[in-house]
Parts: sequence; C-alpha cells; structure tokens
Amino acid sequence: MIDSPNVLARLEEPEYTGENRCWPCTAVNVVLGFALAVGLGVAVSAPVGALALAASLLLIRVRGYLVPGTPTLTRRYLPERALELFDKSPETGPTIETVSPDELATVLTAAGVATARGESIRLSPAFETRWDERLSSEGAAEPSPDEVRSMLGADEVDCLDDTSFVIDGSKRVRWESTAALAADVTAAAELRPRIDGWDDLAVDERRDLLTGSRLLRERCPGCGNGVRTTAERLEHCCRRPRIGIRSVCAGCDHPLVELVASESSADPWLELAGVTDDL
Ligand SMILES: [Zn+2]
Repeated sequence: MIDSPNVLARLEEPEYTGENRCWPCTAVNVVLGFALAVGLGVAVSAPVGALALAASLLLIRVRGYLVPGTPTLTRRYLPERALELFDKSPETGPTIETVSPDELATVLTAAGVATARGESIRLSPAFETRWDERLSSEGAAEPSPDEVRSMLGADEVDCLDDTSFVIDGSKRVRWESTAALAADVTAAAELRPRIDGWDDLAVDERRDLLTGSRLLRERCPGCGNGVRTTAERLEHCCRRPRIGIRSVCAGCDHPLVELVASESSADPWLELAGVTDDL
C-alpha cells in the first residue's frame, strides 16, 4: 500500500513552499492548472478534467509549482508591475526613504564622519577616534533600551532580545549583532551634534546614516579586529537579482552589516561598502 504522507513529503520542495513560496509563480500555476483541467474536461470527460484539477492543485500545494521551470518563466514574462503586486515579502536591511542615495554619502562627508580617499569613501580619522573612545567607555558594549530609544528618537522601545526591539508599539527593528548595536548607539551620540536637524530625522533616516557609518568601519566595534566586507548576488525566482552586502569581523566573527542593495553600480550602499569592483 502507498504511504501517502511519505509520498507527499518526498514530493515536497521546501525551496518553493512555506515561507519560500513565490506567490506570482503559484498564481501562474493555478491558472495553468485550471486551463489544463478545462482542456481535458472538454477533450476527454468532465471527471478527467476534475481529477486533473485536483492533482494540479495538490502538486502546487506541495511543490510550489506545477510546470517545471516556472520560476524562470515568471521572471521573464510577468511584467515587473504585476510582480510588485505580489511582492509583500519584508526586505532585510534598511531602506532609503527620504535620504536620497547621493545625500547619504554627502551628509556623512559634510558631517565629518566620512572623507573621500581617492575613489572611495572612508571613515574620517578624527571621527573614528571619537567613536572608538565612546565604544571603549564603560557599558558601551551593552546599550540599555533607553539608549536605543534615544538613538532612534522613539517615544517607547520594547526589548525583544539583545538585538531586536519594537519601537512605539509597532515598528520592529533588529541589529546584526550586539557589536553592531553598540556601534550605532555610540555613533548616534557623535552624529547628533554634527548633523543639523538630527533630532527631527525619522527612524529610517537615522538608521540609514548609522548603517552607512558602520559600513565604513574597517575595525570591529566589539573586538577591534579587521572587518571583511563582501558582496554577493542574490538570485530570486521572479524578481531582478539583488546584491547582499555583508560585513563580518575576522576576529570575533560577529556580523556587523547585512543589507540588500539593488544591482545598480550607482547604488549608494555598494558605493559606501566599496564593493562595486567586486561585482
Ligand atoms: Zn570582532
């Protein structure tokens, strides 16, 4: 006798189901399943059509798709606007909302945080010294929720764990590691007097500036060892590929920056990370 749960488990493709399910692909496949069922219903008989429909829906349920290769087909033939309708997946990393791409580097340079060295942007030595002094002060490695609240300009911060918080009762924010969080809390104290209107900036704008500064660090805010920044192309079944940027400490292995940038070589994050030549 066929053990049906086992057969289903073997057919299952976790890569395309559950959290990874691609809704544009699922929708396209359901439509194809119906078309196939109607075709068979007319050409053969109604019960055969109904059976085909049931089998199609079951396959889409466990495998994520019916027609092999749909992920690629969807990316190629569905217009970007149609894909956007489905695209509700949360992106990791900060989004640039009101700080425009060019402004990020310009603001950091004007504030004395960054300086141009040749083609690339580096942390200014004076800012780095002040930042490191703050990082080595007592308690800096474990910021309190109140310090996080003040850094973000929020009214209220609820602590979920060492690196995740809910601000003002709704927005969830997360840092890559406690070292990254400590870096931002100490950097914010230095950015406030350097950037006019810092207190009026929205949470996302502050986070963009802090992440931008953190991305410029060549030494780990936790242990002082060198930081390795890499860029990797992230393929998606039906969206344009994006670039994952990742900074990790070579000494303590803490992730310091993890974000997703667009593929464009003019992307401000790629520029700040100094990885445009690697791609
Ligand atoms: Zn480290």
